[in-house]
Amino acid sequence: MKKTICVTIPVLFLFSLFFAANIYAAESKTKVFINPGHGLEDPGAVGNRLKESDIAEKIAKRLDEKLQQYCTTRVCIGGSKLSQICKEANSFGADYFISIHVNSSRIQSANGIETYYLRGGSGKAFAKDCQSALVKKLGRFDRGVKVGRFAVLRKTYAPAVLVEIGFISNPTESVLMVSEKWQEDAAEALAAAIMSQK
Ligand SMILES: [Zn+2]
Repeated sequence: MKKTICVTIPVLFLFSLFFAANIYAAESKTKVFINPGHGLEDPGAVGNRLKESDIAEKIAKRLDEKLQQYCTTRVCIGGSKLSQICKEANSFGADYFISIHVNSSRIQSANGIETYYLRGGSGKAFAKDCQSALVKKLGRFDRGVKVGRFAVLRKTYAPAVLVEIGFISNPTESVLMVSEKWQEDAAEALAAAIMSQK
């Protein structure tokens, strides 16, 4: 009997250490909330037979996969319930919030990448990193980092950005953005920007 107790206690101790370490690791992982723009009943911009929501969702899924090893993630499709999305991001305790979109313009030649953040918010540095990573990786025109008052930027607590990765209305970019390479590169750039945050 005595021997059993002697063996059981160290084993239990080791088990509890193991579980505590795992819980700590999960808790200490960076939490990233990914919001593919539009979706559900809202396709977003439509052009060149493409829907913005489809492109955004594909990039979001790839980004989610890339972050799995290092971050705790949550992916929530935009739809029209943006307030609900923001509430979910806040209760999730997101460290970073990223909303993925592609742009559209009546001017077909409009092209390039831009990233929005909220003036006075905490997302400016994160926005700069996302923008430069995307431009570098995709090699498209740098439209710069811009101030925006989108609901997803105003109502989220975490440093938040809204990226517009190319123009669905541009003949060249609309072809590029359906390619797996573009989607993979975009996701990789965003993952690198997230991982570079301190
Ligand atoms: Zn959009």
